[in-house]
Amino acid sequence: MTNIGRISKSRKRNPVVVCDFDDTTAKENVAQMLLEEFGGSNWRDFRNSHQRNQISLMEYQELAFGTVRADRNTLKEFVRQTATLRDGFKTLFEFCRSENIPIVIASLGLDFYIEALLEKEGLETIPFFAADTAFTEKGIKYSYRYKWKKCWQPGNCKCLVLNRYRELGYDTVIFAGDGNSDICPAKKSDVVFARRFLETHLSQNGLSFYKLSDFSDVIEVLKLICAESKSGVNNCD
Ligand SMILES: [Mg+2]
Repeated sequence: MTNIGRISKSRKRNPVVVCDFDDTTAKENVAQMLLEEFGGSNWRDFRNSHQRNQISLMEYQELAFGTVRADRNTLKEFVRQTATLRDGFKTLFEFCRSENIPIVIASLGLDFYIEALLEKEGLETIPFFAADTAFTEKGIKYSYRYKWKKCWQPGNCKCLVLNRYRELGYDTVIFAGDGNSDICPAKKSDVVFARRFLETHLSQNGLSFYKLSDFSDVIEVLKLICAESKSGVNNCD
């Protein structure tokens, strides 16, 4: 890796790393693994409706998980047994911690399964932004603390997370993602690591990005940013 993408050189930088969860931080699509294991017979009907743009991702997720009858602990235990982190993520976390760079997860998925994998890996200090769930006798109830009225879709908005960190003074957003909901935050980020659908979309639209295979490349970019910022006051100590 020889350059740092859209970032111009010779300026002080305060980076923040924002990562999608399913198929990005996690190697697997954890939501889908849970639905395949615990979902009712009709959960795929809702996925099909979403894929035909008949319902939003939020509606699909609520309807699909509405067919699940397992309790929170059972679902979390399944995640601990089956889900894995993408290679390099823990090293990236350690690098960010040593350099005082925030690393956060922004997901349109559900809190308990993100929590389960982070706990399993000893990464429970990583802030994550996801749909809040409450398991009740009538099923899972959802709440969305990260809505943004300007967002194109209902439910949480990843761009709101980006905006919050920018408002806190983090002027260089490093974003990693893979899906349709990652297009908007990718376009608002300074350096993008992409795979799967996001990679194809950015490529077809002539937008710059790095291919995300594992997180070691993200560390390389952060090292370059820190090296170019080291003469100034920034979070790369
Ligand atoms: Mg994803």
